[in-house]
Amino acid sequence: MKTLKIAIQKSGRLNEKSVELLKNCGLNFENYKSSLISPVSNFPLEILFLRDDDIPEYVQDGIADLGIVGENVIQETEVEVSYLQKLGFGKCSLKIAVPNNNSITALEQLNGKAIATTYPVILGKYLAEKNITSDIRTISGSVEISPGLGLSDAICDLVSTGGTLKSNGLVPFADVMSSEAVLIGQKGSENDDLVQELIQRIQSVLRAKETKYVVLNVERKNLNAVTALLPGVKSPSVVPLAEGDWVAVHTVIPERDFWDRISQLKQAGAQGIVVMPIEKIIL
Ligand code: ATP
Ligand code: MG
Repeated sequence: MKTLKIAIQKSGRLNEKSVELLKNCGLNFENYKSSLISPVSNFPLEILFLRDDDIPEYVQDGIADLGIVGENVIQETEVEVSYLQKLGFGKCSLKIAVPNNNSITALEQLNGKAIATTYPVILGKYLAEKNITSDIRTISGSVEISPGLGLSDAICDLVSTGGTLKSNGLVPFADVMSSEAVLIGQKGSENDDLVQELIQRIQSVLRAKETKYVVLNVERKNLNAVTALLPGVKSPSVVPLAEGDWVAVHTVIPERDFWDRISQLKQAGAQGIVVMPIEKIIL
């Protein structure tokens, strides 16, 4: 039987969440830091642990069928792969930043200026689109110290909280792209049954993460007011309680408007609200 290969980052910002996602999909494997390949015991899959920069090309060339990597790395390497699923972690943006004592206020002022980056391809396309010609200086790391050293006038680097920029006396100036971890596959791999099975498992884990399971009690006379506030996967389940006038309502609600919903539910007469995490939602 065919065995799929999925490439994930060996160590770094995406490693832990990638491993967690695969484990939450019910895949059993050892996560030894020393090994480069780990077989999954309960699914025809092998996990390859690689530098993130190598993942897009490995997937394009079919050395791995699938990969988990930041969109920024995919765009920079300009590979031909299929985007299969956004994964909701590793969120960051690629930004141009300038020293905080600078006089640059408009993008045109970057004309003729030196910008240090590890993302010359993405930055080059962005500047070309805006008709700006800067001197792109490609360096391999520690981009944020280059203006202080007099190596560049600005930088273009990944930012999540902005803490690194701030501590180096830089302020974000323009958003070049936003990025998150994505599942990619070799072109055409989306037609493979095993790949589809894995995508479905991943989607069920992601859906579950976005929602909570809620059980609450309500008097029958307030039931309509309460159910009007509940979306649910279908309609909520309503279960009679021993005390005749009361029912228990079971449903799922989105994490993002969780607290708003809960206070609205209380106002509508809900009591004894129990909220639980969901492991998987299979539609
Ligand atoms: P590797 O050793 O695998 O080459 P790396 O040092 O190139 O790792 P990391 O710093 O671990 O890469 O970042 C991996 C990915 O995490 C980035 O490509 C990006 O998609 C994402 N990311 C999220 N937040 C940040 C951030 N603040 N800075 C850098 N990358 C971030
Ligand atoms: Mg890297």
